Amino acid sequence: MMPTTGKVYLIGGGPGDPELITVKAVRILGQADVILYDALVGPGIRQYFNPAAELIDVGKRADKHTVPQEEMNRMLVEQARKHRIVARLKGGDPYVFGRGGEEAEELAKNNVEFEVIPGISSAIAAPAAAGIPVTHRDLASSVTFITGHEDPTKGESALNFKSLAAMNGTLVILMGVSRLRDNVKALLDNGKARDTPVAIVEKGTTSGQRVTIGTLSTIVELAEKRGVEAPAIVVVGDVVRMHEVLGG
Ligand code: SAH
Repeated sequence: MMPTTGKVYLIGGGPGDPELITVKAVRILGQADVILYDALVGPGIRQYFNPAAELIDVGKRADKHTVPQEEMNRMLVEQARKHRIVARLKGGDPYVFGRGGEEAEELAKNNVEFEVIPGISSAIAAPAAAGIPVTHRDLASSVTFITGHEDPTKGESALNFKSLAAMNGTLVILMGVSRLRDNVKALLDNGKARDTPVAIVEKGTTSGQRVTIGTLSTIVELAEKRGVEAPAIVVVGDVVRMHEVLGG
């Protein structure tokens, strides 16, 4: 086996606002020899990049994976053999629906030194920016994060919608736009109340943020009417009522 010399940093770039990134992430991005970044990484984050770094856009959006995950994993190992500091930059937190876990596994398997730099996930930051605390002493004592990308109607889903519908806490759905209708239907079919408040926060924490508020019975139509698009966070539960009080 070839000797590996570099270190890979799996870095969370935060939810979009360039000020919502960690001090450590900024430091490493400023030192990196090569930076591999995703589409969800906003343009404001580029100001932190080492101007001399080689940049590799491995941009991914919803269903369109420009670089297949296996190739991505391979690329990271390869880059670590060529460079001293490799920055793998992802939107939000690298281990929250970011497939950072798979990349880390591949690095571990290949004896490549790596470190995770957590980021603020859009899963909490987008609701917060819309005036929605994901937990609240009076409204929700738990929060569940799920992917909305699986098809709950085909029995392929690893998600248990019966339990999800029965929970009183907050449900936060990432990648929830394209299958919004299916996910809402699955919750209703499993007994979730039709008047349960729902919020959709598009482009949370950025200047393009837009919030759509409805209920399980109205949200699908509302989202269609308003042309809601990814990236967006869907929040289901009573905490959504706080939007009226806290704004955003
Ligand atoms: N690792 C990321 C999530 C990657 S999955 C994180 O922790 O934030 C991609 C999904 O993240 C999108 O489909 C969307 O649901 C969500 N997302 C990312 N950035 C967002 C933003 N600024 N506003 C709303 N949703 C966002």
